[in-house]
Amino acid sequence: MTDSRWPKWLPLRASLAPLSAYGAPQVDAEASLNTNENPFSLSPELVAAISARVADVAATLNRYPDRDALALRSGLARYINELSGTSFGAPEVWVANGSNEIIQSLFLAFGERGAIGFLPSYSMHPLIARVTATHWTDGKRRSDFSLDVESVISQIADVTPGLTFITTPNNPTGEAISLGDIERIAQSVTGLLVVDEAYAEFSEEASAVTLIEKYPHVVVIRTMSKAFSFAGARVGYLLAHPSVVEAMMLVRLPYHLSTLTQGAALVALDFKDELLSGVTQLRSERDLLATALREMGLTVLPSQANFLLFTGFQSTSQHLWQEMLDRGILIRDVGLSGYLRTTIGTGAENKKFLYALRDCLAKEKS
Ligand code: PMP
Repeated sequence: MTDSRWPKWLPLRASLAPLSAYGAPQVDAEASLNTNENPFSLSPELVAAISARVADVAATLNRYPDRDALALRSGLARYINELSGTSFGAPEVWVANGSNEIIQSLFLAFGERGAIGFLPSYSMHPLIARVTATHWTDGKRRSDFSLDVESVISQIADVTPGLTFITTPNNPTGEAISLGDIERIAQSVTGLLVVDEAYAEFSEEASAVTLIEKYPHVVVIRTMSKAFSFAGARVGYLLAHPSVVEAMMLVRLPYHLSTLTQGAALVALDFKDELLSGVTQLRSERDLLATALREMGLTVLPSQANFLLFTGFQSTSQHLWQEMLDRGILIRDVGLSGYLRTTIGTGAENKKFLYALRDCLAKEKS
């Protein structure tokens, strides 16, 4: 297929020609509530500790980093063990430049028999599948976007994929499913069950990491981008059976995770209590914001994440998105007609968001 966007002389893979690069608009706004970042910047103490670590390791940058990131993998295992009562060590953890790189490695290593995910969900799953030449199946949810576990099980039986993606809490809907439901799906999948838990710390549901011992084909993806306020550092990881981790090493690029990244992430783990107290605050802000939106007559999907998906406004998603941006508030049009998603910001940002939205809705009615 030819695509006029590309010059004819460019030997671009045919499968990539129709694609557009992923990109939420990065525009300046008074409140940036569009990419589910953590709104709290790092504390002066954490900044000082990271700076000191960078100063310590800077002289060694003539050398390649620890290719296997062993210290960081052990640190991440300890963190998960404390939260979930598990007993993982470095052999059960892999770490990379954001969970996006983890997802890419999963497709590269295990994508041969194709993959399924249940839409709407994280838009990068199908996109990275295409980029890695993995056959992707759009699985279905109920019309209210909730996950119907019986239907999931029968869709998996129809497709028999090598990789099944379940995102919980799900992006962009916020819905979390129970551990019991994940276990039922684990019992029915044919290949690996990949549970993307990027927002796990914001949720009340137990993590699927507790299933790995019994079900070695369960893989759990986590990230430091959200709960740890560390999106700019690019640190994502997975917990899985050691053979999954060994296979990840077949497809990783040599020395993929810089010495600076590894050092900074270890420091952030030392500050986990401070960072997780921000998560508690965001959870209560989320619940306040959901109540305020409902009081405005909007419908808000139940969310266990650091964002809310809402509907019930009269204008189109694109129009309301632009009206909000005109008022300095950048939220996300996730491509679902009649819905918009907003990330939970600081208390002050959430007030500005509500103020702008009230104004927009009043204008709709006038
Ligand atoms: N999984 C989900 C469900 C996400 O929403 C995101 C980012 N928004 C990611 C993975 C990727 O995050 P990162 O690469 O920053 O770890």
